[in-house]
Amino acid sequence: MEEKDCIFCKIVRGEVPSKKVFEDEKVYAFHDINPVAPTHILIVPKKHILGVQTLEPEDECLVGHMFYVARKIAEDQGLAPKEDLKGGYRLVFNVGRDAGQSVFHLHLHLIGGRHMGWPPG
Ligand code: 5GP
Ligand code: ZN
Repeated sequence: MEEKDCIFCKIVRGEVPSKKVFEDEKVYAFHDINPVAPTHILIVPKKHILGVQTLEPEDECLVGHMFYVARKIAEDQGLAPKEDLKGGYRLVFNVGRDAGQSVFHLHLHLIGGRHMGWPPG
């Protein structure tokens, strides 16, 4: 999938509407169109990267930044784990079709607002 046709590149460029949660020079975060929990936000790099399966050494800082942004958004959404051990959220990269990846532009799922089981399906 080239950047020209990529749905998340189109969202980042504003060509496809999205419910924005956060944006800076490196990343764009928005609500998932088909949420699997009360909170389901996608954090995507503005740079088109196919997925974790094609990460390069030059992308290491960018991926670290995605996790930090996820932490900040989770706190803003009231999802941070509490001292009584309640609360919390899940951060997920689906890598490849067997793992559930359907959009081939790197994205970190931030999922929360309900109890989640383990192992995942
Ligand atoms: P994946 O299955 O690749 O890990 O996750 C892709 C996610 O992108 C899915 O949860 C899907 O609901 C979401 N998604 C796909 N197309 C769109 C869209 O056009 N807008 C938004 N907001 N989310 C999308
Ligand atoms: Zn893209």
